[in-house]
Amino acid sequence: MKPSPSRTRRGQGELALLGEIRQRAAHACLGGLSLGIGDDCALLAPRRGEELAVTTDLSIAGRHFRLDWHQPEAVGHRTLARGLSDLAAMGARPVAAFLSLGLPRELTASRRAGYSSWVQRFLDGLLALAELHKTPLAGGDLAESPLAVADIVLVGAVPRGRAMLRSGARPGDLLYVTGALGGAAAGLARLAELAGAQPSRTSPPRIPKKLESMLAPHLYPQPRIAQGLWLQRHDLASAALDVSDGLSTDLAHLCKESGVSAEVEAALLPLHPAATLAQALHGGEDYEVLFTAPVTARVPRSIAGVKITRIGRIAKSRTGQPAITLLTQQGRQPLAPHGWEHFL
Ligand SMILES: [Mg+2]
Repeated sequence: MKPSPSRTRRGQGELALLGEIRQRAAHACLGGLSLGIGDDCALLAPRRGEELAVTTDLSIAGRHFRLDWHQPEAVGHRTLARGLSDLAAMGARPVAAFLSLGLPRELTASRRAGYSSWVQRFLDGLLALAELHKTPLAGGDLAESPLAVADIVLVGAVPRGRAMLRSGARPGDLLYVTGALGGAAAGLARLAELAGAQPSRTSPPRIPKKLESMLAPHLYPQPRIAQGLWLQRHDLASAALDVSDGLSTDLAHLCKESGVSAEVEAALLPLHPAATLAQALHGGEDYEVLFTAPVTARVPRSIAGVKITRIGRIAKSRTGQPAITLLTQQGRQPLAPHGWEHFL
């Protein structure tokens, strides 16, 4: 993030905000970073024998978050969590994050003296998660925009040729997932109820203390970095990806890339206590890691405090057969991908 004389001149407020971001980002740990914000480029220093993993995620107001539903801290946290989750899925260690923001003027200004602006609170949420995962904010850009937009780029490092891919699942492998499923969709539904109960408001609804933990999987999802790194180091997973769009959709991606089919046992699914089966199957944004492993692999019951659950198995792909079959007490039924629709 740097003032750029070759483009439209920045206002004083914008420059001050860039300076503040630079100062706050400088406190972050410099894991795999040689040079952070301030020069024309950041310099990254992967260790010998590593390759870089890069992912980008766009968050748009009205599509991925709502200014009248989500507190700015939660928007900042979720923006970074989406990128970190992709690194977790490949077993990559976070090296640096790059953030570009397009914001309407009212979000960069404090409404009252002594109070934080929307963007300062957004950074509170983003930088708290960055610190937790030792991910320095190493650059980005800022511009005034009619619509609030946050674009995050995450760079991670993984031993060369050892990243976990979507394409390695083989017939006979077992299918596992970290944590619980459906919690984010259940939390979003509850948040929508809270917001709908006060339709005239323009700022996010107040979250009662007793609902904080129920809404946490939606507002503050925890990317499974430690679990992804553990799986990668132990060379346990034959394939992996993160559950960002819902189990039915993401498992279909894994099946397609691996050229296999999958059977999911409904009774084994680790439903979040507040979630329905439909939310666990199709709800998005759980940010768990879905992975496959050979039957002979010794998969632990938990990794770094997060439960690991076997939910099914991988089978051969047969022409004319559904890619995913759901096994229930009523028998076998095809499971079609019903992905995440966000807010539109
Ligand atoms: Mg992903």
